[in-house]
Amino acid sequence: MTDAELQAILEYCEKATGEPWEYSGMIGDPGKLLRHFVQGPRDQIVLLSEAFAVDYAGLDNNLRFAANARTDLPAVIRELQEARAENADLKRSEKGYVERIKTVERQNREARKRLGKAIASCYFSDGYRVHCAHCGQLAARNVGPSAIIHENWCDVVSIRAFLEADDEVNR
Ligand SMILES: [Zn+2]
Repeated sequence: MTDAELQAILEYCEKATGEPWEYSGMIGDPGKLLRHFVQGPRDQIVLLSEAFAVDYAGLDNNLRFAANARTDLPAVIRELQEARAENADLKRSEKGYVERIKTVERQNREARKRLGKAIASCYFSDGYRVHCAHCGQLAARNVGPSAIIHENWCDVVSIRAFLEADDEVNR
């Protein structure tokens, strides 16, 4: 059922005499002319049925249904409208979160690349040996920076560990 169809039902409910409606029950004797009333606010009669008791139980049920529907049907429609609105909000925010996660993941990949580049270039050579620019540890002669044994506190060590752990997670 579309939103417009729901709204149309709510509108014809609201055009009827205001709620609550009360069913008065049968007036008269079974086997003779029976009257049934549905009363609106201030004892206004909103439905009147007069019938010989061909199907007393059926008529009784129908009028009870009509009386209750005046309150229950609009209430159910409003509940459904609220649930649909809430659902639409949730879908919108879910879309927003998915976009946000994609952005953060992209930023994370970029930051990891930059970190990798930064630790790959934080060495300098004094002409003989390669030094870590951060902790100052030296490589042996004629070997590259990967041979340096860094100080424990050196950021190169923790950044490498971070990048490796992050690779595990992203694998
Ligand atoms: Zn170092």
